Amino acid sequence: MDMAFTLEESEIKNQVRKFVKKDLLPVYREVDKKGDLFGDVKEKFQSMNLLKIYFPEEYGGVGGTFVGLIIALKELGYGSIIPTTLLTGNSLVAWSLYNYGSDFLKTTYIPDLLSLKIPAGIAFTESDTGSDPKQLKTVAKKRAGGWLLNGSKKFITNSGTGGYLMLFALTDEGVTAFWVNSKHKGYKVGKRESFIHCGPLDNGELYLDDYFVPEDHVIGQVNKGFEILVRAEAIGKTGFCAGYVGLAERALDLAVKYANTRTHRGKPIGRKFQMIQVKLARMTTRVAAMNSYLYQVAAMVDQGKNFVPDAARLKLLVAEDVKEITADAMEIHGAYALSDEYEIGALFKAGIGVQVIMGASDIQRVIIANDILAKGRYDTE
Ligand SMILES: Cc1cc2nc3c(=O)[nH]c(=O)nc-3n(C[C@H](O)[C@H](O)[C@H](O)COP(=O)(O)OP(=O)(O)OC[C@H]3O[C@@H](n4cnc5c(N)ncnc54)[C@H](O)[C@@H]3O)c2cc1C
Repeated sequence: MDMAFTLEESEIKNQVRKFVKKDLLPVYREVDKKGDLFGDVKEKFQSMNLLKIYFPEEYGGVGGTFVGLIIALKELGYGSIIPTTLLTGNSLVAWSLYNYGSDFLKTTYIPDLLSLKIPAGIAFTESDTGSDPKQLKTVAKKRAGGWLLNGSKKFITNSGTGGYLMLFALTDEGVTAFWVNSKHKGYKVGKRESFIHCGPLDNGELYLDDYFVPEDHVIGQVNKGFEILVRAEAIGKTGFCAGYVGLAERALDLAVKYANTRTHRGKPIGRKFQMIQVKLARMTTRVAAMNSYLYQVAAMVDQGKNFVPDAARLKLLVAEDVKEITADAMEIHGAYALSDEYEIGALFKAGIGVQVIMGASDIQRVIIANDILAKGRYDTE
């Protein structure tokens, strides 16, 4: 069941679903292996201009809803987690520039971020921490006309040459967000990572050696970057979760198909064994709950409500449920789950990503607990 989508939102859903079925699913294995779309599929994907859905016309968007963008990201996730990952980085950076950037940054970069002409990402994590701003070691020192950055970052998506980053560094009294170009002097690309849950993303280390950031490339106010980080990550978490809800739906569909076709003494295992039915019931309920909450959080963004605590709850819910759903789907597939010929093993592996990226589950628990303790009671906005 869908929540009440507008005509435009339903159209987005139909269009992306058609693309996934006709173009993405036939080549998803190659897409996952390469960590990128390619050939005609890439061209078609880019021509759909999905990132433009949410942003205003003055910056190259079409002025639609965040719900519309989330619908697109979820539908894509059914085919592969790669396109959702590509779009989420650019969307959270475009959102940050739109809400906190100078006019120069908005007009110069948002259109290119939306058309995917430039890849972008967020650079927070360092070798000592991916969770605690107080442990950051990258520093920015004030100089005439701007800031001088020194330090390093780790696990940063789109940090190879060609990417733009919203990078967080320590300033006198807090953390500040800076707009950084990986092609500029003082930026060095470090070791690239290889992951078990997806293809070869452009992800790895970067080094800043007297990297100069002009004043109009500071995002938001100096020392107030933590608020930007928290809100941008909440946007990113919602987009990222959308892709993983799509992945969970596919895991469920594959499990149902297997339970309906694999037989035991002439009867489908789904009909014969209650243990299989228990799993399918649990998986279906979890998928339904994730869908509802996903669109509820997306609607909060459109309504201008405080979506940060809900994005953390959504992230925790999706991280836990994707783990359970893909594990149940593996069990239903028996030995065939481990065969490369079957798709479920790849989904099980890809599902691990949502437990860590954009903040580990325990960090979501910390955010959620602090929020409810401060409010004193449960109350949806
Ligand atoms: C594929 C991939 C892509 C990524 N892309 C990016 C990116 O583009 N940009 C970026 O900045 N980062 C990126 N990351 C990094 C990712 O966001 C961090 O790895 C993640 O936030 C966890 O950080 P950490 O491993 O340093 O954990 P740590 O901060 O070292 O934490 C280790 C463990 O301790 C727990 N812990 C830490 N602090 C607390 C606390 N206060 N209370 C309770 N428990 C705590 C954590 O939950 C975790 O389980 C990426 C990671 C991966 C795997």
